[in-house]
Amino acid sequence: MSRFWSAVTHGLTPYVPGEQPKIDNLVKLNTNEHPYGPSPRVIEAIQAAASDALRLYPDPNADRLKLALAARHGVRPDQVFVGNGSDEVLAHAFLGLLKHELPLWMPDISYSFYPVYCGLYEIAHRIIPLTEDFTLRVEDYLPQGERRAGAIIFPNPNAPTGRLLPLEAVERIVAGNPEAVVLVDEAYVDFGGDSAIPLVDRYPNLLVVHTFSKSRSLAGLRVGFAIGHADLIAGLERVKNSFNSYPLDRLAIAGAVASVEDEAYFQQSCRKVIASREALSTQMTELGFDVLPSAANFIFARHPSRDGAELAAALRQRAIIVRHFKAARIDQFLRITVGTDEQCAALVTALRKIL
Ligand code: PMP
Repeated sequence: MSRFWSAVTHGLTPYVPGEQPKIDNLVKLNTNEHPYGPSPRVIEAIQAAASDALRLYPDPNADRLKLALAARHGVRPDQVFVGNGSDEVLAHAFLGLLKHELPLWMPDISYSFYPVYCGLYEIAHRIIPLTEDFTLRVEDYLPQGERRAGAIIFPNPNAPTGRLLPLEAVERIVAGNPEAVVLVDEAYVDFGGDSAIPLVDRYPNLLVVHTFSKSRSLAGLRVGFAIGHADLIAGLERVKNSFNSYPLDRLAIAGAVASVEDEAYFQQSCRKVIASREALSTQMTELGFDVLPSAANFIFARHPSRDGAELAAALRQRAIIVRHFKAARIDQFLRITVGTDEQCAALVTALRKIL
């Protein structure tokens, strides 16, 4: 093998995704999927579309989905970009930042894919620690003298902490950096945050990224989207078409459109997860855990006297998988996806035995 090829590929630090176990009967609380299935209308729409969707090539522009999302979010279709999962949307957005002379700013701790993209695309970046209580301090994201950001990215609610930044704080960051693109990754916002989408008409530097994987229970369908100023969206389309990335397939579009059209199911299933999250947080607190306030479909918790890795391993022995990160500052925490009531009860019962 070429020495150059080995040097480049060995130099990469790939993302480590959460485990997708091969065994069926595990209580799977490790990758933040929605515990309830998508709207029944999604399944019907996919079934009805299947024959043509498989026979025909995909629609390269995903017009139906852009129209549905534009109507749902009160924007124009040319303000909507869609991709195969929000990871792909983010990948294209990062490519758009290539060769920017100013760095991309991001928090530590946050979604671990961001530094991976920076490494892959050699994007200069600056990592800004969260405060002691894992909040993002707005002042840290405002230009100071010569120090300016080329772009800023953060999840809101943050992952894996679940902590929410109020919308007025998001707006201060966006307004304070008019020269920088501000990417707000709202993968979990439907579980308790106010979306920044209503701000896009006022701030041409704001790009809000969403996914169908969490609140719409469609992680397997691979659908994500971004909403922003039409110029930002046009830039993303140019990146996508230069990359020749694969368009969303027709099954994904049929399912995603049906999901957007069933607002009642969406609202009700999110409300259920929020109620279960609150109940689980209370129970975990009663078990002695420090539980961070969460606006997401997971909780982030540590026990003052029990090691995080050991707890994760002990749960695993009882067929329950949760996420444990070996990273600095958070290696005592467990990130636990809010499951069905039965799954949450199984978790609490197991923890009672372990502790
Ligand atoms: N952003 C955040 C903050 C996430 O946690 C995830 C899920 N791992 C994603 C984006 C990507 O989700 P998807 O590609 O399934 O849309």
